Amino acid sequence: MAIHISRRHFLATLGAAPIITGAALAEPPYTYSVQGKIAVSKLGPALIHEHVLVDFIGADKISPDRWRHDEVIRKVLPYLLEIKQRGIQTLVECTPAFIGRDVILLKKLSELSGLNILTNTGYYGASDNKYLPKWAFTETAEQLAARWITEFEKGIEGTGIRPGFIKTGVNNGKLSELHQKLIRAAALTHLKTGLTICSHTGPALPAREEIEILMQSGVHPSAFVWVHASGSAEELENVGQSGCWISLDGVNTENIGKHVEWISFLKNKRRLGQVLISHDAGWYRPGEPDGGAFRGFTTISDKLVPALKEHGFTDTDIHTLMVTNPAKAFAIRIRKR
Ligand SMILES: [Zn+2]
Repeated sequence: MAIHISRRHFLATLGAAPIITGAALAEPPYTYSVQGKIAVSKLGPALIHEHVLVDFIGADKISPDRWRHDEVIRKVLPYLLEIKQRGIQTLVECTPAFIGRDVILLKKLSELSGLNILTNTGYYGASDNKYLPKWAFTETAEQLAARWITEFEKGIEGTGIRPGFIKTGVNNGKLSELHQKLIRAAALTHLKTGLTICSHTGPALPAREEIEILMQSGVHPSAFVWVHASGSAEELENVGQSGCWISLDGVNTENIGKHVEWISFLKNKRRLGQVLISHDAGWYRPGEPDGGAFRGFTTISDKLVPALKEHGFTDTDIHTLMVTNPAKAFAIRIRKR
């Protein structure tokens, strides 16, 4: 079933606050790190989209014996200690299953570094479905959601480690039926678990379609993180009118100016409270000598934050970006429209 979304319809449904339900009302907001339940007030400064290890070999060939924990730890731990030293306390690890999610490895790195690390459930359809297991093509949204809900309720692959969010991904044009199904599965999982939905997306067009599917499924857009949000500042703001999270997660030394421009624009439009920032860095690559060229996670601390301050951002604004927004975005609670 194809969906048709007019811009008018998209905008007409925006603006209402989410209806929050469930036990979460009675206790302080929490999420799960790989070490267990944690109040989101304890997450501290967070990088919301990074990767420890990514294996691009494809869902049909991937296997955990393609990497060794001791070798990955030797390579990656110094990069985690480097951000810990800069005051970062939480790293949201966005590598989905079948691209290198290894929750035991993440738990070891969390214990060794002292960082909170969040992992995820869900399947990634971007890159033309290379990272989807074969049953993702044939099962219904309900069946896929049941698998993800089981990971939340029982833990991932027998480890007892729970996901802190849903990670999915779609191609960067109009959504295929398969990718619409992934988003419906994410919606069903959210309505059962309260996990926030992070979807690798890119441009505004597929983001609008994803938000429309979520709303049709009864999920409030504030449960959705528009991952790799890209486009003009106006497009970012326009999609942001839904109440979704705008994830500017590709910060590197080459694009500091662009990020200052985007974030300033969104601040002026009073949308700073929906902006998330990160590097999408890391990427130990199995199969390459010593895991290949690893990119560290320090550019935000060392370059972007000082640049934002030069452009009039206050300590409160920086706290919003690094602490308040991640805590709100990743709190586990069912958000209905
Ligand atoms: Zn990523």
